[in-house]
Amino acid sequence: MSTPYLLLTPGPLSTSASVKEAMLRDSCTWDEDYNQIVQGIRQKLVDLATLTPEKYTSVLMQGSGSFCVEAVIGSSVPANGKLLVLTNGAYGKRIAQIAQMYGISTSIIDFGEVTPVTVEPLIQRLVEEPDITHVAVVHCETTTGLLNPIEEVGQVVKEHGKVYIVDAMSSFGGIPLDMHELGIDYLISSANKCIQGVPGFGFIIANREELQQCKGISRSLSLDIYDQWETMESGGGKWRFTSPTHVVHAFKQALQELEEEGGVAARYVRYKQNQDALAIGMERLGYRSLLPKSAHSPIITSFLYPDSEQFNFQILYHRLKHSGFVIYPGKISAADTFRIGNIGEIYLKDIHRLLEVMEENCFW
Ligand SMILES: *Cc1c(COP(=O)(O)O)cnc(C)c1O
Repeated sequence: MSTPYLLLTPGPLSTSASVKEAMLRDSCTWDEDYNQIVQGIRQKLVDLATLTPEKYTSVLMQGSGSFCVEAVIGSSVPANGKLLVLTNGAYGKRIAQIAQMYGISTSIIDFGEVTPVTVEPLIQRLVEEPDITHVAVVHCETTTGLLNPIEEVGQVVKEHGKVYIVDAMSSFGGIPLDMHELGIDYLISSANKCIQGVPGFGFIIANREELQQCKGISRSLSLDIYDQWETMESGGGKWRFTSPTHVVHAFKQALQELEEEGGVAARYVRYKQNQDALAIGMERLGYRSLLPKSAHSPIITSFLYPDSEQFNFQILYHRLKHSGFVIYPGKISAADTFRIGNIGEIYLKDIHRLLEVMEENCFW
């Protein structure tokens, strides 16, 4: 094994020792004590998502975050429905790709790669194509770290009476939000992002009335959110098919640690402090960020390759890894970038040490 490192990536993230330790037990997927844990998690997720919990419910789903995105798209847009996807990065594009693979009628507004979504084109499209039934957007586009205005979008979507789907994968638990206030019908995230659990399942927090209309829509057996929800509801926390028992124990511990930290508001402050220190420190070393400061999220930041023949991302990556940090390559076509995440079990002292190592490696 190579030396351990901190993950400065968009997920999986570095987790606490206690979250990892929570996995040191085996559980029966059908046992009532275990199912009670599942029920507790489902309720906590709803409580984290809104101050109006009675209107919402949650479903846990095996697999990575994309499985949940696919499950929502494939189980909520009916055969005669039409999905509008607002894209400005790889994850928005993935939503559109899922819909197209299922043969769902799909409309796309592409905002490029570095510009947040705006509502004028959205309003225009909803007027031009009144057969649109569902609108999907990504909250934090992890491709660049860009934050989309889900509040403004939600207002328009609700004024037009459409179903609102938000991929909040990399923001839920790290940025305060209330899905009732925002008008979100389906909010999707996963165990290994800002809740700081380990990878293995994702979850959907849904408007209960909307979800109840999804019976029989799914194009997939395993990714049917209605059936999965129905089994969890009627079975008191049972999953269809084998559940990721160890991951569930870790997630329960991660939720407790989120509470101990002071909840989402406190975690947001920590992430924001990390990001501020990172952005300022990198700038001081001569790195420029891809996005203007106003579009930054407290989750992950994209930096442009320095304008030097000497700069080599692979060399930087391996030197950082050797010093205990893993960073992430860029993912956009318009510019050469790399990304540094600051979510997970990461504190200011870690960012400061990273900046020291970055300084030692300004070989360009
Ligand atoms: C991480 C992430 C996903 C899901 O990715 P998986 O690799 O399937 O876990 C989806 N959307 C966004 C915005 C993400 O950050």
